[in-house]
Amino acid sequence: MLNSGSGDTISEDRIEKIARKYAVKNALDYGKAKIGNVINKLFSEVRPSGETGAEKIREIVEEVVSEVNSLSREELEREAANYVYAEREERTGLPKLDWATESTKINTRFAPNPSGFLHIGHAKVAILCDEYSKMYSGSFFVRFEDTDPKTKPPIPEAYKAIIDDLNWLECGISGIFRQSERMELYYRYAKELIHDGHAYVCTCIPEVMKRNRADGRECACRTNSPAANMEMWERMLSSYKEGEAVLRLKTDMEHPNPSVRDWIMMRVIEAEHPITKGKYRAWPLYNFASAIDDHEMEINLVIRGIEHEVNGVKQAYLYSAIGAKQPHTIEVGVLKVKGTLSHKSDIIKAIKSGELSGWDDPRTPTVAGFRNKGVPPKAIRDYVIGSGIGKNPSYLDMAKLSALGRKIGGTGV
Ligand SMILES: [Zn+2]
Repeated sequence: MLNSGSGDTISEDRIEKIARKYAVKNALDYGKAKIGNVINKLFSEVRPSGETGAEKIREIVEEVVSEVNSLSREELEREAANYVYAEREERTGLPKLDWATESTKINTRFAPNPSGFLHIGHAKVAILCDEYSKMYSGSFFVRFEDTDPKTKPPIPEAYKAIIDDLNWLECGISGIFRQSERMELYYRYAKELIHDGHAYVCTCIPEVMKRNRADGRECACRTNSPAANMEMWERMLSSYKEGEAVLRLKTDMEHPNPSVRDWIMMRVIEAEHPITKGKYRAWPLYNFASAIDDHEMEINLVIRGIEHEVNGVKQAYLYSAIGAKQPHTIEVGVLKVKGTLSHKSDIIKAIKSGELSGWDDPRTPTVAGFRNKGVPPKAIRDYVIGSGIGKNPSYLDMAKLSALGRKIGGTGV
């Protein structure tokens, strides 16, 4: 007999059961269960009584681990569905927003780039946005951020595929927008900002400007008159070549973070856009277009990945320049998937080589992949909402998702 943490005696049988629970989880997380990991977990629940106890526990764990490591993944998942892993507290809903009242309508947006397909990490942000808009009877908009035809060219079929995925995830879409169709709006704001002396066209070569920004030194372009800037802006729309001119927002050249100093709002890209073709050559960057849109669409809650934290600081200067209120923001930790196919570039490669049948292959961590695997959408929603809005990155716990799926009655999970 061994002592448990609370001082009660605990049977070998009980030790074996607890060890098995952790071994199954460990095997699902890492491919094979490791004795050391299982012992550590076990000791968080049970304390050995003296040397003999520890030795006995090790003996039991060794046996359990060897047994568990002989199970197939399917068998492991089936077994895991029966366990409750107590380390994560389940939540029934998302926390209330302390700045909102019962009558505040919360408008959110999900802003994917249609240069790829939705993966589970995107789904997390979309579900959180949708859930908050439902909680507070507001709107949930989808806004395609497709203004980089050069490095992130949109894939035409991705627009529809993403909407299909969101509908499947039971998101209540209130409206769909494409930034490439809102260019005149960005141009109007750009002109206003130039007119009011908040923005200037910078024709410094990138290396010089990089040095200037690092040193906090203003370039000569910054003091050009609005009239001169307006003329140069027109040339950005007609004749400047890629890399010759950018439109910058005047922020603070002494800001502690150099990336915040006079950040770029628009630049020239000569590559043809798959949708608008050659109609536009001055394209907005993320921080400019998204802030203008959030303001125009009356978004009052932005949920985005923690890696976007600095963007809030950058955008604050723009909101102040246009005299608008910055939306509230929740930055959440990234939801990742373990395995070789966790990156977009790897998926593209595997599709090209024929290793995968497409973006919806059940082996991919895309939303369509999960759909084809038979995971019920509600299981994904429950998983995301249950995990909450913490800032720490996490890996998808497939055993937990499967358990949620089984509870709902999904197949193939
Ligand atoms: Zn300059």
